[in-house]
Amino acid sequence: MQGQMQSQPLLISSLIVHAERHHGSTEIVSRRVEGDIHRATWRSVSRRSRQIANALDALHLGFGERVGTLAWNGYRHLELYFGVSGSGRVLHTLNPRLHPEQLVWIINHADDRALCFDMTFLPLVQAVWSKCPGVKHWVALCDADALPADSGIPGLQSYETWIGAYGDTYIWPEFDENTASSMCYTSGTTGNPKGAVYSHRSTVLHAYGAALPDALGCSARDAVLPVVPMFHVNAWGLPYSAAAVGCKLVFPGPALDGKSVYDLIEGEQVTMAAGVPTVWQMLLGHVQSNQLTFSSLKRTVIGGAACPPAMISAFRDGCGVEVLHAWGMTEMSPLGTVCTLKNAQLALSPEEQNGIRLKQGRSIFGVDMKIVDGEGKELPWDGKTFGDLLVRGPWIIASYFKGEGGDPLQYDEAGRGWFPTGDVATIDADGFMQITDRSKDVIKSGGEWISSIDIENIAMAHPAVAMAACIGMKHPKWDERPIVAVVRKPGAELTREALLAFYEGKIAKWQIPDDVVFVDAIPLGATGKMQKMTLRQQLADYRLPGI
Ligand code: AMP
Repeated sequence: MQGQMQSQPLLISSLIVHAERHHGSTEIVSRRVEGDIHRATWRSVSRRSRQIANALDALHLGFGERVGTLAWNGYRHLELYFGVSGSGRVLHTLNPRLHPEQLVWIINHADDRALCFDMTFLPLVQAVWSKCPGVKHWVALCDADALPADSGIPGLQSYETWIGAYGDTYIWPEFDENTASSMCYTSGTTGNPKGAVYSHRSTVLHAYGAALPDALGCSARDAVLPVVPMFHVNAWGLPYSAAAVGCKLVFPGPALDGKSVYDLIEGEQVTMAAGVPTVWQMLLGHVQSNQLTFSSLKRTVIGGAACPPAMISAFRDGCGVEVLHAWGMTEMSPLGTVCTLKNAQLALSPEEQNGIRLKQGRSIFGVDMKIVDGEGKELPWDGKTFGDLLVRGPWIIASYFKGEGGDPLQYDEAGRGWFPTGDVATIDADGFMQITDRSKDVIKSGGEWISSIDIENIAMAHPAVAMAACIGMKHPKWDERPIVAVVRKPGAELTREALLAFYEGKIAKWQIPDDVVFVDAIPLGATGKMQKMTLRQQLADYRLPGI
């Protein structure tokens, strides 16, 4: 027997229709590339997204064709999120921090037909356009008068002129919910980047899941600041969840320094913010050195890389702001787990609670996970045994764009496909997952595994340390031994011996790094994550003490 409910497809256009109808006057505030603060509403974003749909139709851009963006977080980018996908084209968010050659490769691999970019990236586009013959339309996200007289880019037009030529009457088409809606390439630390292609269905389901109270907990009463870029896994899906719940959105544009982010939080009375640890480091630095407080901020979601314990306590104890540690990846749309405590954990001592807050958290409904050994055998959820973390669910990748890399899934006895995350984790009896490492970063010493994240977290808790990265070095007896590369805080003094002594009593003796290497900077990738491969190359001539 079939169910007898309406089978309306889950489409991204329904999110913006809902936001306009029920939250039309709720504000969308953006710090623009131009430097000013721009105020829009869900109503205006919706109206202009329909103008985009008409403009794309007029270009005869076909159903499923890709429209690339090279843009910061702002209202125009948000309009493209809905206008491009809602009309059946695929939004391809490009990471401007990539090397130009990598960008060219990705634009051509994705077969982008149009590309919309912030004026910040004009020099970048001037450097790459001639190598992207498939892109037929170049649009600068600016007013007509901000467009340079001769950019050298053929047919370049301003976004405002482009969409301004079209009306806002448009009926969003209905189509199969499994149609592609947007795509994003993985960071590609090894080999070429691979494209993750999201569908309308996966995006709408993710929007529901991410907004749940024990996940990001967004509501119409929130003012949300996504510092996480809209070019990195759709800003963790926040634009979609925000439209579903009708919260106010506040966009930081290109200004991610501590003062700019703080001023925006206070000026717009932001209640929730989301970003990677490096951004929060800058914000906390500004708050601490100017003895500031937050008047509205209730919680920050921190993910994308392990959140150092010192950051959790600086926010909670120092600023009264709850930290939600979250984990996910490009291939997961991206949200997998969020660390919200249950009653059982809230009854524990503050120290015990802190130990749990460090974990990456519980899976949100829609994401099933398990840990397995080298043979694929499931391991116990005891909080101690660690293994390869596998996931499955309706917003988790089944295959990469153009089938790149073959079938990525691992199959269980029932024939169900699980995606191997490449992370190594433990899961405790209450379902709290903790990442101990990327499988390629874990340090194998004398048959035992040492978590590089543990070593980094301890170093980061030292008051003189600005940043720390732990890597394994070849050792003739132990196979590998950990060393920690450290950037000192400006003006701070710290010796190798003092930092090594700081580890004593915090981890087992054999896990303490063999050496400390002081460096000026830790190499960061395009999404703000530490590039341990590059660090290893930089330390190619390094030898462990006594070897
Ligand atoms: P990306 O696809 O670029 O978002 O990278 C995903 C990877 O980032 C994951 O597989 C993890 O290795 C890492 N990651 C994301 N969030 C966290 C977190 N909260 N703690 C530790 N690692 C994380």
